[in-house]
Amino acid sequence: MRSHKNIPSLIVLAAVFILVFFHACKTTDQVPEPSSIEQWILGTSASIREDFSPDVFIQLKNAGIDYVELGLRAPKFYADSSEREEFCRQVKEAASEAGVRIWSIHIPYGKQWDISDPFDTVRQDVIKRHQKLFEIFEILQPKKAIIHPSYEPNLPEEREARMEACRKSLTVLAAETKAYGVDLVIECLPRTCLGNSSKEILWLLEGNENLGVCCDVNHLLKETPQEFIHKVGKRITTLHISDYDGIDERHWPPGKGIIEWNLVLESLISTGYSGPFLLEYNDSPENKAAMWKDMKSKFIQRSPL
Ligand SMILES: [Zn+2]
Repeated sequence: MRSHKNIPSLIVLAAVFILVFFHACKTTDQVPEPSSIEQWILGTSASIREDFSPDVFIQLKNAGIDYVELGLRAPKFYADSSEREEFCRQVKEAASEAGVRIWSIHIPYGKQWDISDPFDTVRQDVIKRHQKLFEIFEILQPKKAIIHPSYEPNLPEEREARMEACRKSLTVLAAETKAYGVDLVIECLPRTCLGNSSKEILWLLEGNENLGVCCDVNHLLKETPQEFIHKVGKRITTLHISDYDGIDERHWPPGKGIIEWNLVLESLISTGYSGPFLLEYNDSPENKAAMWKDMKSKFIQRSPL
């Protein structure tokens, strides 16, 4: 009889235990897990020319490069609707058949594409140009769209107005890409371009949760890449990897310049970055894959590249 009386209190105890257990699980879920570079997928930028052939993607896949960022140099990306659609379909099919994922698309840059133009009428035209281009996302289905915060050079006295204009454009454009299921990502830039430091990048991100950051490690002239990564943290959602001399962007293969790669990898891991490792320099797919293998093994031994 006595044990029967205890059943309700046992049920309460069990319920409390389950609640505490699930709460504990939830709390540990919220702590960013350090990522492992072994899980990062290797990617590279590739400019598809007009005479593009599916071999481009097959060659990447065979070398062990599974993700690609497309530059939009081919004039057909800007052609009339039907011609453009057909071209995008060919590119998408060729990538899919080779087993390569179109991870990102690099939005063009230049005066015509400058989202920081301080003249509102000009800026509205620039936004319209972007909106028209975004139609290709329907077919190409990238995960990220990389945008430059400005063109260059920029006068110091115009900087504040341009930063304001840029942030306004980014709010509109990030909502536009989101409708296609694509994350808009701002790239850190060198020289007088907007977004040339973690401070400016953080300011541009303010109030816009839809925006991510592409850390181009060879664009950082005011701080080291590892300092930038620590400051911008989890907002970094993609990379442009190449080496430089710290004086200007060079797009050299890693190991040729001054970047301390072990520190860069460590800082990315500490933010919970989960890949991909996306290379942005000229070399054969085989050499790129070999470089990444070498970089990973040097990282494990903590010896310089
Ligand atoms: Zn870049």
